[in-house]
Amino acid sequence: MVKQAQLFELQPENSTQKLTYYSSLEKLNQVCLKCARCSLSQKRKQVVIGRGKIQPDIALVGEAPGKQEDKAGQPFVGDSGSFLLKMLQAVKLDSNVYFTNIVRCRPPDNRQPSAEEIKACQPYLIDELRLIEPKIIICAGATAVAGLIGKRESITSLRGKWIDWEGTAVIPIFHPAYLLRNPSLEKDSPKWQTWQDLIAVKLKLERISALKSHRS
Ligand code: URA
Repeated sequence: MVKQAQLFELQPENSTQKLTYYSSLEKLNQVCLKCARCSLSQKRKQVVIGRGKIQPDIALVGEAPGKQEDKAGQPFVGDSGSFLLKMLQAVKLDSNVYFTNIVRCRPPDNRQPSAEEIKACQPYLIDELRLIEPKIIICAGATAVAGLIGKRESITSLRGKWIDWEGTAVIPIFHPAYLLRNPSLEKDSPKWQTWQDLIAVKLKLERISALKSHRS
């Protein structure tokens, strides 16, 4: 049987149809729910699989589940998740979003996931994103960018700059927990910059829709 990592190597560089190891999101999630690929599985209450619509406008990729997410088994349901949702609602981007994380189990004491933990979970994330086919990906925080794209830079230098991931536009934004700790709305503050980033997402989505209707 072909291993998942080998399958990714078999993917022709320029093909638009991306191969997935699992044939559906349901099958992928069934495997995730029993996963013991890394030590995070030993301390978790629940595996936190993605939630939301498939073929969404936006896939929101966070760092890792926190305490509330671990309890609920759902991503972005705690304080920073609610805050992020409020921001998305304010720019009317909340109706067609899929939420997921770089790792599916809560790191103890909300520490950052380690490189090994990210690596263990990465094949799930890649398959998940290939299966749901979002129009745009938002990465919340530098760890999310590193986990998806492998780019290790500070979020201050990454945010607001579009990056390509397999033909899908990715935009890094500040992590909502960071924004909660930095409430200033002054020009050039992290919150102000995040508004600019979300407006850029809105404009990009409008452009993608216009291009699609022009083509059909
Ligand atoms: N909730 C999540 O599920 N992920 C984050 O990164 C933050 C909050």
